[in-house]
Amino acid sequence: MRGSLKIFTWLGIPVYLHWSFALIFLYAFWIGYDNNMGSFGMLWVLAIILPLFGFVLLHEYGHSLTARRYGVKTRDIILTPIGGIARLERMPEKPIQEFFVAIAGPAVNVVIALILFGVGLLLFDGIYWEAFVASINDYFSAIGLFFQRLWHLIIGHISFSDFKMLLSMDTPSQLEELVAETGIEPGLLLTALPAFLSINLGLALFNMLPAFPMDGGRVLRALLAARLGRVRATQWASWIGQAVAVAFILLSFLVGTFTLGLIGFFVFMSARSENVMVRFDALLKRYTARDLMRPNFTRLTVTDWMQTPIDLVRQGLERHFLVFDLNDQLVGALREEAIVAAMKRRDFSSEVANYLQRVELVHINEPLQTIYYHLRQQGLPILGVVDGGELVGVIDEVGLQHFLRLQSSGGV
Ligand SMILES: [Zn+2]
Repeated sequence: MRGSLKIFTWLGIPVYLHWSFALIFLYAFWIGYDNNMGSFGMLWVLAIILPLFGFVLLHEYGHSLTARRYGVKTRDIILTPIGGIARLERMPEKPIQEFFVAIAGPAVNVVIALILFGVGLLLFDGIYWEAFVASINDYFSAIGLFFQRLWHLIIGHISFSDFKMLLSMDTPSQLEELVAETGIEPGLLLTALPAFLSINLGLALFNMLPAFPMDGGRVLRALLAARLGRVRATQWASWIGQAVAVAFILLSFLVGTFTLGLIGFFVFMSARSENVMVRFDALLKRYTARDLMRPNFTRLTVTDWMQTPIDLVRQGLERHFLVFDLNDQLVGALREEAIVAAMKRRDFSSEVANYLQRVELVHINEPLQTIYYHLRQQGLPILGVVDGGELVGVIDEVGLQHFLRLQSSGGV
């Protein structure tokens, strides 16, 4: 991927750092500088931030390796400052497979959190175990309190001004209380373990929000798809995702956090585009070559002069042509670029044979998906359509555009 640095390949999947990752290092530098930490302190900040990306990376491997079990390859994994992306070649479309691929990422983080909890259980006892639990509690109590107060606001137990006032108050820290009471020194492990555990739980929770592009959106779609089919399930998942996004945006006004609103906006757009994509996909599957094939087309012969296609392009609507040999066998395609090139060179009397390019054939029952792939991804401007070994028509870029336009205006 452009603008990314390959850092390593693990289990056959290349891992890239996005260029904007440099911002993270700048951020560490800035925090360090702001707190007069010196170079050792800045390294320390990095040492806290980098494991975070390790957890994100393992999350992405969760998706990739599960997809691999279903025969879906991962092109690469890209780490960006706002998270990772495992670029799968395609998303498995069977609901149960999409479900497992989507849930595997958050599941990895839950497993890591459990392992860290187990490590804590082994390492700490007595007052240190209490401190360990208190610290984890501290990480989540702010979120818990927030929703508790929001609920109280909704059911009218507290007024909006109370809510605002409570928001600005610090959440009491159980760990600090415990430290004050007992005078223990929370060392490196007692600081790092609860933090890493909470980060992993937080990652899992955030990703399970039922909105695209979060994993929870896919899990929701997969669950609905088992009953409703993929298109209707996506429609519902998209609506729910948009509702979540709106809630984010409202919340951002309530709390006065700009980033939350930004995330909400991003989620809203993703939910919509996922819906559009899946509907388009379904459209491509619903129709076949028969639906947009043009049975009447001009047949050129290899020995024709270029003058003929040049005139045809000037006067008619056809842009690309199929070319036949003297035995009426299809031998190739003549594309508009070639005709224009001949026109520029004033090469009117050269034979069409000199400008031939390969032609691809599709069966009349071939789904529109394949045709779309040939025309748009492979850049072939014209295809021959065959039925029972016989050439029965052509499909070209103009025809595809026309068909899609009619479709989007509900005409087909
Ligand atoms: Zn994920």
